[in-house]
Amino acid sequence: MNERDHVINAVLLGVGVGVILDPSMTFGTLVSVVVVTGPVVLGALLPDLDTSFGTHRKTLHNFLTLGVVAAFPLFLDNLHWVWLGVYTHYTLDLLGNVRGLAFLYPHPKEYDVPFGVTVSSRWATPVTLVVTAFDLAVAALVVHFPRFLPVVTADRIDRLARGVRLDLADIVPGVLVDILALVL
Ligand SMILES: [Zn+2]
Repeated sequence: MNERDHVINAVLLGVGVGVILDPSMTFGTLVSVVVVTGPVVLGALLPDLDTSFGTHRKTLHNFLTLGVVAAFPLFLDNLHWVWLGVYTHYTLDLLGNVRGLAFLYPHPKEYDVPFGVTVSSRWATPVTLVVTAFDLAVAALVVHFPRFLPVVTADRIDRLARGVRLDLADIVPGVLVDILALVL
């Protein structure tokens, strides 16, 4: 996608996630929106810096870059939410161009999905909006309806590490466990 669509996507995603995290529609919601949107927009602009140095669609379009920005807040309590901007940039580049991304860089091979629209196409912005809506739906699910997702909790990771076998309820979404309990 072009820079304009990346910015549209990042602003909408940041505002949306901010509201999802604090849907009270109070001053707290405004703070939440500002806290999330700023770093997401910066993160969405980050990957294309490799047009100026390195190799475009390789140097900063890979899992290593995403991993570094995702790990940064965990270890240094800084750069929160930048990972979301980088992630959403990759999603749009995958769908918004006929060219792929070198996800495994320094391995130079570029990976792509067999569909997508060209940057200059009139569908570029509509596709951007659809991707944004999808990401927001996933975010809302994670934050407010985790029972519909397989949830990785500290307790489960600890049990795995201690070699305790996880049962069915640990690896499928809670809502499925409820349905299975009714059927079985
Ligand atoms: Zn890009």
